[in-house]
Amino acid sequence: MPAVLSTLLAAPQGDGLRRVEHLVFLVVFFAAVRWLRRKGLKGALKSVLTAVVNRATKLPGVAGVVEKELQKEVAKLETQILGDGDAQANLVLPKQGMGKDDVIAMQRGLLEQSAEARSSGRKWGGVYYVNKDLSKCHAETWAMHSSTNCLFPGTFPSLRKYEAEVVAMVLSLVHGHEHGAVGLLASGGTESILLATLGYRNAAREKGITDPEVLCAVTAHPAISKACHYFGIRQTKLPVDPKTFTLRPETVRAAMNPNVVMVYASAPTFTHGVVDPIEELGQLALEKGVGLHVDNCLGGFLLSFLQRAGHFKRGFTFAVPGVTTMSIDVHKYGFASKGASVVAFRDPEMRQATYVPSCDGCEGLYVTPTIQGSRNGANVAVAWSTLMMMGEEGYQEVAGRLHRAGEKVKEIIADIPSLALLTQPDAAIVPLHSTDPALNIYQVAWQMEKKGWNLFTGQNPPCMSMCLGEQTTDRLLDVWGSDLKDSLQHIREHPEDKEIGGTAGVYGAASTTPPQIMDQLMRRYVDMTLRVKPMTTQAP
Ligand SMILES: *Cc1c(COP(=O)(O)O)cnc(C)c1O
Repeated sequence: MPAVLSTLLAAPQGDGLRRVEHLVFLVVFFAAVRWLRRKGLKGALKSVLTAVVNRATKLPGVAGVVEKELQKEVAKLETQILGDGDAQANLVLPKQGMGKDDVIAMQRGLLEQSAEARSSGRKWGGVYYVNKDLSKCHAETWAMHSSTNCLFPGTFPSLRKYEAEVVAMVLSLVHGHEHGAVGLLASGGTESILLATLGYRNAAREKGITDPEVLCAVTAHPAISKACHYFGIRQTKLPVDPKTFTLRPETVRAAMNPNVVMVYASAPTFTHGVVDPIEELGQLALEKGVGLHVDNCLGGFLLSFLQRAGHFKRGFTFAVPGVTTMSIDVHKYGFASKGASVVAFRDPEMRQATYVPSCDGCEGLYVTPTIQGSRNGANVAVAWSTLMMMGEEGYQEVAGRLHRAGEKVKEIIADIPSLALLTQPDAAIVPLHSTDPALNIYQVAWQMEKKGWNLFTGQNPPCMSMCLGEQTTDRLLDVWGSDLKDSLQHIREHPEDKEIGGTAGVYGAASTTPPQIMDQLMRRYVDMTLRVKPMTTQAP
């Protein structure tokens, strides 16, 4: 019995009220100790500060100011995104349906407004391939399957074959077959991560854990936050090594507690392109009897083929003992159209426990493999055609090209004073930061944005990253390098120009705005993007 407990229980007999007070104190005291243990001193201080700021923003005087600032920021974003409004806005159905050619012509026109930016390669849109044959194949496969539904495998038996085979082929990349792993075809990395997390939530219930917890790094993709939010799981974000930007096994060990059901690691992370130490984390997970999810969404395909070429040497797949689930996007470096990702489970029972069979409703028997109900078979067929068209050799060749592109980015940066790699990346991403205290990297990003680039920016610490894709050709990188030099020269020659606009500006502002207010701003931002804004015609 802890000393505190015995002294308190030894309170004078007969003093009933005091005893109750003592007991209440005890309960609160131990709850506080548990909370402090879980959060650590820094985390606890942060929580207290958050609570204070939350309260402060609700004070009558402050609330008004915050509200005004929020409205101003949303208005700024609205001007950027919605402009003066849409002259052809549709708020209701057209009275009479349009002809097919007119619809297509309209869409072609709308897409072409942004075609130049995309085809120049300067604007990144999260599409990793530019292969024309592949795009043509996607279009033909889609046309053939546009009115199919995976919900009816009896009607469309080929879709069942494609789905099972896509999962199998992806499993083969991550040593799934040798270790008896199974998988599901999800709509994207986020759904894959949701399904894996659901698996751990179910396993927690089996073990009688009522307050399950996931440990992840601050570098983890926000999809794990969504998963924890949806499934009522506590998410603890751990700091990373300040040099390598990877999760340290000691940090994870220190955060371990009986509620932990899963450790979440990335291979690689989205912002920095670094792979967490999966082998060490696997050992730790085995020792503690918890699961280890490897988020291979971004690196799926690419990292596997970089490894085959000897450019990446550490383990990150089911070959590593302790890895229990993985998410591997087919729609990133797998080059499929958006809508395909595989979630893989080492334990087939864990996969089975994620299904939700319905057998007592009026509909009769209903069960689907994932979160979705009806699914377009076109997506599945396109993923299958892509894997068949690319083959091992195709992906191997792409991995070689992307590796060389990454090396070239590093060479360009080595030649530019005041910019450097933030850390040594493993795959897909090259993260840059400013080594000159007087140079704000967001300012560089803004100058690049003005030249038509949309390099993505990260925060804590500020960085600007380049994501590699087939569009990252030698020629494009030459232009990038010279635009970067011009941007830096402009900043040097115009110290009075402190402007940081665009996305870079938002990131700059975010670093000095309390997270509670950013949270509000982001919610309103989504509302705003979902608005139809007709152009207001001026009265004559
Ligand atoms: C893209 C990505 C995800 C989420 O995948 P979506 O397909 O966008 O839902 C998760 N983790 C990492 C590291 C990613 O890059």
